[in-house]
Amino acid sequence: MWRETTKYERNLKIFQEELDDFLPDTILDFHLHVFNEGVVPAGSPYSCGGHPILQYDLDDLRQDLSEIYPGRKTLAVCFGFPHVEYDFTRNNEYLARVCDRQRFFPLRLFDPKKDQPAALRRELESGGFYGLKPYPDYVRKPNVNDVEIHEMLPAWAMEIVNDLGLIVMLHIPRKARLADPLNQQQVVELCEWYPNAKIVLAHIGRAYYLKNVVGNLEKIKHFPNLYFDLAMLNHWEVLEYLFREVDASKILYGSDIPIALAPGKSVEINDQYTYVTPTPWELSISDDHKKLVFTSFLYEELRAIKKVVQNLNLSREFVDRLFYKNGMQLL
Ligand SMILES: [Zn+2]
Repeated sequence: MWRETTKYERNLKIFQEELDDFLPDTILDFHLHVFNEGVVPAGSPYSCGGHPILQYDLDDLRQDLSEIYPGRKTLAVCFGFPHVEYDFTRNNEYLARVCDRQRFFPLRLFDPKKDQPAALRRELESGGFYGLKPYPDYVRKPNVNDVEIHEMLPAWAMEIVNDLGLIVMLHIPRKARLADPLNQQQVVELCEWYPNAKIVLAHIGRAYYLKNVVGNLEKIKHFPNLYFDLAMLNHWEVLEYLFREVDASKILYGSDIPIALAPGKSVEINDQYTYVTPTPWELSISDDHKKLVFTSFLYEELRAIKKVVQNLNLSREFVDRLFYKNGMQLL
């Protein structure tokens, strides 16, 4: 079993010794993916940190939430897997049907090439979605690094989001990520042109290494409708920089389950980052010599958050807001 939860003694030990006293009673995980049977083409499973899976449905999620955050009341913002080859309608319909909006809050995958204005508006109004999850790949450019934020989120879609006051969970494109001047300009434009939209930069703008945030966060952090989620951030210095620079109400805890349940860690090397995993994965360097015992990306993230809270002497109130209140306010 590839999911590194407290079902394994070694993870239970980490939880009891390092995390149990730190985590609040209630946890809202603002960034996780759920996809039902039939979304992924049979025969080409999704590689979840190097572990092939064909589905990750709400029952899987319920079980894992209870085993990764034992003893906690948990809530989650859920969206599908934004891969062009996957069955996006099936995934959206599933989430609209199974999310109860009390514990599980759905976002809708958005495809600028397939979605149409009238139908999108109807679905957002009646489907109980809290917002959109666009993705660079849906723009379908030959090189995904050439994608622009405004192509992922054309004006007609943002006008609907703005009218309805919804969330956008934005995985920014381009090689330089948060450091890319065009990205910065277009994030600012989204915030200014659509003041009722709530823009969440997933993975702190995908800035997994320190140089990517330093000097860049400052250019965008002042917008009242811009938020940052921490999904897959294992790097305490990046988190410390964010916690120092950005208003506490703008920071949202998120994990990126199910990927974050896999064993591994994101590391910075010479102003770049990579994942290190025990199993080969296209995004990682793997521990071929089997030298290390790993825990989940998720526990590495929680360790990094805890370290920064201690370093900066942040309050219990800060922690409660980060893990629950800030996100609930957005919803
Ligand atoms: Zn994600």
